[in-house]
This record gives sequence, C-alpha cells and structure tokens, in this order.
Amino acid sequence: MTLKVFNNLTKRKEEFVPVEKGKVNMYVCGPTVYDYIHIGNARSFVAFDVIRRYLEYKGYKVTYVSNLTDVDDKTIRRAKERRISIQQLGEKYSDAYFDDLTKLGMKKPDINPRATQHIEEIIDLIQILIDKKYAYVVDGNVYYDISKFEDYGKLSGNKAEALEAGARIEVDPRKRNPADFALWKRQKSEEPAWNSPWGKGRPGWHIECSVMSMKYLGETLDIHAGGKDLIFPHHENEITQSEAATGKPFAKYWLHNEWLTVNGEKMSKSLGNFITAHEAIEKYGSQVVRLFLVSVHYRSHIDFNDRSLKQAKRNLEKLFNAMEMFEALREEHKSAGGKELFKQVEKIRQKFEEAMDDDFNTSLAVSALFSLTRKINLYVKDHGEIETEVKKKIRGIVKRLVEDVFGIKMERRKPETDKLVENLMKLIIEIRRQLRERGDWETADDIRAKLKALELVLEDTPKGTEWKIESEP
Ligand code: AMP
Ligand code: ZN
Repeated sequence: MTLKVFNNLTKRKEEFVPVEKGKVNMYVCGPTVYDYIHIGNARSFVAFDVIRRYLEYKGYKVTYVSNLTDVDDKTIRRAKERRISIQQLGEKYSDAYFDDLTKLGMKKPDINPRATQHIEEIIDLIQILIDKKYAYVVDGNVYYDISKFEDYGKLSGNKAEALEAGARIEVDPRKRNPADFALWKRQKSEEPAWNSPWGKGRPGWHIECSVMSMKYLGETLDIHAGGKDLIFPHHENEITQSEAATGKPFAKYWLHNEWLTVNGEKMSKSLGNFITAHEAIEKYGSQVVRLFLVSVHYRSHIDFNDRSLKQAKRNLEKLFNAMEMFEALREEHKSAGGKELFKQVEKIRQKFEEAMDDDFNTSLAVSALFSLTRKINLYVKDHGEIETEVKKKIRGIVKRLVEDVFGIKMERRKPETDKLVENLMKLIIEIRRQLRERGDWETADDIRAKLKALELVLEDTPKGTEWKIESEP
C-alpha cells in the first residue's frame, strides 16, 4: 500500500517517496527549554513520534532529530530573573523534557542537538549567506535579505512584497526590507554572547534549525515538522536561508500539527490556560494521555477536557480487559479454532494500515483497533480455547499496532502506592475477612462499596482478596 502524506508545501496529499529508498530523515522542532512542556507541546511531539513509529512499522530506517532551543529571548529573560546562567536553566528544563518524553512513551530521538553547541556551524552558514549576498551586516547584526530569494513565501504564502507593505513599526531602519530577519544578533548589555566575525552576539532562532537539521540529516531532509505556528516565520525562514545556501530543496515534506485547545482556545503559556505534560500524566496516566492524543488526527483540533480523558480511560480499560480475557483462553495445538477470528483480525489490521497510510489518520486507526477488541470479545464469549499458533499471531498483531505504532504499553500500570497504603489496604481486607467470617456481610459489602467510590476495587479470588486502583488501567 502506498503511503500518502499531506505536504504543507504543496497543500496536497502526496505519495511519500523519500530521497533515499528505505530511509527517512526527519526533523521535528523541539521545545524552548525555559519552562516545563505543556500538554499542547506534548501533542506535537507525540503526533510526530507516532508518525516516526509508523514509518518504522512500514520498514523505513528513520533518523529522527529534534532540537532544543536553549538560547533566545525567553531563555535569556528567565535565566536573568532566576539569576542563573542559560546553561543551568537549559539543563533543568531539558532534563524535565526528557523525563516527560519517557513517561509519554516517546521513542528517544536519535539526536537532540542544542543551539548553543552549534555556534561554530551557525557562524559558517551565516558567512556563506553573506558571501552569496543573501545576508548583510549592520553594526554587529546580520540580517537576511528576503527580497533576494525569489521563492520567499512558498510555504506560508507570505510574499516579501506583501510583508513590506504590511509592516507598520520599523524596528531597525537600517534593514533593507522591514521583514528581513536576524541571523545574528549583536550582544545587548549583559546577554550571553559568543565571538563572531561581526562581533559578540548570538544566533537568531531560524538559523539554528537550518544548521542543526542539515548537519545531521543532509541538505535535503525528507520530513520537517512542527506545530502550525512555526509555518511562519520560522519554517519559511528556514527554507529561504537553507536553500539560498545550498541551492537544493531543503525539505521534501512539511508536516504541521493543529492545536490542542482548552475550551476551544489554543493552549499556551501566554494565555495561562495550560496544564503541564507532567501534571496530565500524573492525573490520568501516560497510557490514557497517549490514547487521548492519538484518538484525533494530527491536523485536527483536539480539545483537552476531563470528559475526553475519561473516555480514553474507559477505552483503554476495554482494550486491556479484552486482551486479558483473550490471554486466559486455553491453548490447544490442533483445530481448537480461532482461524475465523484470525481472518477478521487480519482484515482489521489492513483497515488500520489503510487509515495510517492516508496521512497518518490515527483517529480511524483507533476505531479499527476497537472493532478488533469487539471481535475478540465476541470470540471469548463463545469459546474457551484457541489454537496456540493463532493466539500467538493475534497477540503479535495487537502488540504491534498498540505498542509499536501508538506507543501504548500493553500492561496495566502497577498502582503507584507507597508501603503505607499497601499496609492499610491489607488491614482493611483483613477486617473485611473477619466480618464475613462472623457473617456480617452487610458491613463487608459496605466496605467494598465505599472503597469502590474511592476507585479502589476489591476482587475476591480463590487465593484471597486482592485490590487494584480502578482508574489505573
Ligand atoms: P515551543 O516550545 O513553544 O517552541 O513549542 C514546541 C512545539 O509545540 C512547537 O512545535 C509548537 O508549535 C507546539 N505547540 C505549542 N503549543 C501547542 C498547542 N497548544 N497545540 C499543539 N502544538 C503546540
Ligand atoms: Zn525549528
């Protein structure tokens, strides 16, 4: 089956053909490390992680690079407020970011380059642009002359002339065009700065991503991705400066995710309507958060609300319950059945792939997965056994779709409780046992109901009473 992706450069769905057969070079704009990532940022990272996983599922060898922006106005301001260096600030929040990525079940990017560790290469690329007359120096600043690049605006539609006409406040009158952007910024007062041929200063944001992506992935990337706010100016400027320097197309496919919203409004730090990825994981569990995120196509809005997360939780429960019952089926070596079920599962796997081949439609792929769960439930209802080989194959398919592609671990989370809770639960279970022994069923049932209201479920098994947290699949 051919994979089609929506290319924002051409605004069309196109057949996916990488530069080199069998390999995909992918660059995803990473976070600015001045604060914890919120669940909106996580939406972007998870969306492209799933895309990477699906490309790998299809057999591509993917190299995935995602940067960390560790020097810009925001990091400088925050470090100053806290009286620490941008390095200390960057370290703190990149550690937290990596921690969140792990908890979110993200595959670790192959390379996580940091802007401050690529200053030399950035200076080299800026020099090439100056030599080629695409860039000019003004009193320690280097600007890119957008009027020199004929194709400026090909991604965002923002043409140089229109930007010029629309510009109201002139920041630096020495700029040739109002929308020329900075490749290098001259040092202001106490700001962190590096030596350069144009004096002390720091790089602009756009040049960092051009340099780091081309350094690790070559001059033409297969996929360049990020949230849709990055289309302009960030990605437009990356294209212009990279293509001006190399004379080659910078990226074949441009992918952008839609917003994660709260009450219909974009989640963002500046609006103050955010919840950190860490808080969301604590509250709902990472598997639930992940299922919630993949349940909507990456180019559609997704609204973050308690109802949708609870729905994701219920769905995950259904999946786990079905698979647990499936695992409990007795295995028989010969003609024990399940062949028909296997055929149905195969068909559903095809549906899943068709959905993912259509611009990574995770929403339809999730529906396919749940029709698979229903088929398994129907089978389990009528059968007590299954052929060993068939069981193995079905288990393998479910694992590949859920774990490998969606990145959702097929394991119930162990309740994260401390020793004290363990001991208290043991005590309650013992008291309830004694009550039952004495024939006080009413109080014993009352205890069970009250625990249930606290999402603590008691299960009476032949080995004794066990407990679990209901909300934790
Ligand atoms: P930043 O750290 O602000 O550069 O953001 C990192 C990534 O998260 C970028 O690709 C942003 O476009 C993306 N992003 C930020 N807010 C949201 C949101 N509410 N929904 C989806 N993606 C977002
Ligand atoms: Zn970037």
